[in-house]
Amino acid sequence: MCFVFTGLLMFLESISSDAVKLLDDMRGQQDRLLDLLKDLVELESPSHDKVAVDRCVDRVEKECTRIGGRMRRHRRKGFGDLLEVRFGRGGRGVKPMMLLGHLDTVWELGTLKRMPFKVEKGRIWGPGVLDMKAGVVMALAAVEHLLEAKRLERQVILLLVSDEEIGSTASRPLTEKLAQECEAVYVLEPAQGLAGAYKTARKGVGQYTVHVEGVAAHSGVDFENGHSAIAELAWQVGVIEGFTELRRGITVNVGTIEGGTRSNVVAAKARAEVDVRIAKAADEARVDYRFRKLRVRDERCVLTVEGGVNRPPMERTRETARLFRQAATLAEAMGFDLQEAATGGGSDGNFTSALGVPTLDGMGAVGEGAHAVHESVVLKELAPRTALLAAMLLKPEG
Ligand SMILES: [Zn+2]
Repeated sequence: MCFVFTGLLMFLESISSDAVKLLDDMRGQQDRLLDLLKDLVELESPSHDKVAVDRCVDRVEKECTRIGGRMRRHRRKGFGDLLEVRFGRGGRGVKPMMLLGHLDTVWELGTLKRMPFKVEKGRIWGPGVLDMKAGVVMALAAVEHLLEAKRLERQVILLLVSDEEIGSTASRPLTEKLAQECEAVYVLEPAQGLAGAYKTARKGVGQYTVHVEGVAAHSGVDFENGHSAIAELAWQVGVIEGFTELRRGITVNVGTIEGGTRSNVVAAKARAEVDVRIAKAADEARVDYRFRKLRVRDERCVLTVEGGVNRPPMERTRETARLFRQAATLAEAMGFDLQEAATGGGSDGNFTSALGVPTLDGMGAVGEGAHAVHESVVLKELAPRTALLAAMLLKPEG
């Protein structure tokens, strides 16, 4: 058994013994967590509304100041600001840990009227509560607790972005830059399903738009001279659907299609939006090649393809698996069973993982209904998951 592994075992033993205490402490904090969570949910923050998202950023900034975080606010035009907060100080040679989350939601302003924040039937309800305001609150509570207990022996960098739900274009460079400083990245996205599994793999995500230009004509008077963009695109859709290879983890979904103007006009234009998911980074080129190789069947039509893979897959690396095992051991000490899952959905963890930084995802709240009207967090999971997050920030000895 190698030295590092023995060190890790000793570490796990030592923190397993106080994992239970951590859990008790977090249960005692639950009301405070709920107060902050209510504030954040009630500050609605749809990705496209900079003013609204920034209000939510302000509230979190205030909380971080209280806890003792060192803040850097990265202003963004047209998007909400990004909040980088550093807590604690690491010793020499100890890399920081990164906590990664987002403050934007998919919910428009005013959603609260029909989906008010409430705690009912063992759940916490409200727009964005699961994805991922609860995750943000849990991260702050975990860090605060470790600071108060003087147990934060390494620096923690919390990065909260404001454009995750719309592709993270404004935040990706900063996310990648900070991640590269860090030992590992913990993503505060919701855990998987009601079992609350941590996510060790996520598919990569691509978007393609396929445009077809045909030749318009009167469908009665001049039918033979028309070249239908719709007929051409319909044929291409069949070809594109064939790009799916389930065994390889590649799915290709033509999600929208539009074209034409009237039933008595041979359509001059049509277009389709396609969502692509890949499990392996190496398949990006494979799929892209097939899109680029699409050729028209009707030579009077013109076909163009835009797009590509914009989130690389988060593959299950050995380092990520090791982090998961550490989490599962700690969970066991706290009295619950932690499962592991892979998902087709992307997150900002895809970016950090693709850089080779060990990334564990789904470390936020347990619940269901993200992006749906029944979005909710399971109340009794709040304290244990916060305690687990805190335990995962403790520094292994040796
Ligand atoms: Zn999310």
